Amino acid sequence: MADKPAHQQCINVRCQATFDIAEALVACPTCDSLLDVKYDWDKVHLPKTLSDFNKRWARRDRMLDFSGVWRFRELLDFCDDRYKVSQGEGQTLLQRCDGVGQYVGLKQGGLFLQYEGLNPSGSFKDNGMTAAFSHASMIGAKRVCCASTGNTSASLARYASAAGMEAIVFVGSGRIAFGKLAQALDYGARTFQIAGDFDDCMARVKEATAALGLYLVNSVNPFRLEGQKAIMLRVLEGLGWDVPDWIVVPGGNLGNSSSFGKMFGELKELGLIPRIPRLAVINSSGAPTLDRLVNEKKLTYNGGEFDRQVIVDDFKWQDDTNTKPHTIASAIEISKPVNTTKCLRALEICDGVVRQVPDFEIMDAKAQVGRHGLGCEPASAASVAGARLLVEQGVIDRDARVVCILTGHPLKDPNASVGYHTGQYDPDHQVEGERLYANMPIPVANDLDKIVEAIETKA
Ligand SMILES: *Cc1c(COP(=O)(O)O)cnc(C)c1O
Ligand SMILES: [Zn+2]
Repeated sequence: MADKPAHQQCINVRCQATFDIAEALVACPTCDSLLDVKYDWDKVHLPKTLSDFNKRWARRDRMLDFSGVWRFRELLDFCDDRYKVSQGEGQTLLQRCDGVGQYVGLKQGGLFLQYEGLNPSGSFKDNGMTAAFSHASMIGAKRVCCASTGNTSASLARYASAAGMEAIVFVGSGRIAFGKLAQALDYGARTFQIAGDFDDCMARVKEATAALGLYLVNSVNPFRLEGQKAIMLRVLEGLGWDVPDWIVVPGGNLGNSSSFGKMFGELKELGLIPRIPRLAVINSSGAPTLDRLVNEKKLTYNGGEFDRQVIVDDFKWQDDTNTKPHTIASAIEISKPVNTTKCLRALEICDGVVRQVPDFEIMDAKAQVGRHGLGCEPASAASVAGARLLVEQGVIDRDARVVCILTGHPLKDPNASVGYHTGQYDPDHQVEGERLYANMPIPVANDLDKIVEAIETKA
């Protein structure tokens, strides 16, 4: 392992303690801050230009070249190939979508959707999970765990069953979309329904990890975030290695936004891109912690010299006032994001902005994404609703090139889709609003004449 030019480092600028790559840590033992994976780039055999990666496409018979994560392996070089656990993740596409672009308010050719629903377990989480499991296998972990709003557990369960490790997942009772719960159960994960929400599960799983020596794959795991960097490489690849103007991503636990910022910072430092795109992180109004911290409390990263107490006080205020997140976008129903500090750093690197959008706008945006041929789960559509808001506000120019990340597959949460189109949402997930793009099923008698008449009648 020592032959790899990587180590772990505390992100706290006043601490910066370093740790061996073989340690399984979810926070700095000295100051409790998050950890980064750092590379000794001089010792990495880097490509001269990013387009050098293209030639790997020719070797799709090789698992690690086929993987949409590991074909960029020089940029996350922490693990020997023989430990890598790959499931063909990252076969995802950047797709131009003028229909949704028009909805967002952009000119023709301006909007691209990065459709991460195409991953093996149906969400972007697989990009991170392949990296976390590779590290787990490198250090000989046997029992792997997570807290989840659904997709992390689905992805963990799939990789654990493939890697022959024991899968332990914590989900909030009644909080998980059925498609995702079905996956965790089907892949054989031991699934504990904790009487609480995601933030409760996250707190308990950290305690259980420490008590039992489990291997935790939530996005506090720095190796997981290394895998998610590949999403940005595929976006650049999809644009012929050009840099777009904006990346728009939903924000839950803020792992994705954090890893995107890290990737762009590294690529710029390495001289592999000429400039860094701007980043927009979108909360649901039902779980707007980041928006509150950044836009109301004016919290900025400030080169790492920021007031941590603002975050501590906000989380305490949530407890004191019993403020709980509630949104139909269950994957971002998180109000104490574990990667808040890393996300602030990403916002600084990428000159980023944060916005919140209400659930009815998320569902309208989701219907637009579906109608224009891609489809996604509710949380993913927050990116599209957020991009639309930012164009309306004049923050994003109408002629900008914008990439929205579609984080999860539409079949993850069929109840939300049917609820939107029929108006009959699940009792716990009612959404107010007009349902502008609802496509109601049409009841017809069991009779050909009536059926013909119904088909010929346009609403
Ligand atoms: C996990 C998840 C998110 C949130 O991503 P973070 O990295 O936690 O901010 C958004 N959408 C979907 C579909 C997810 O599964
Ligand atoms: Zn530290």
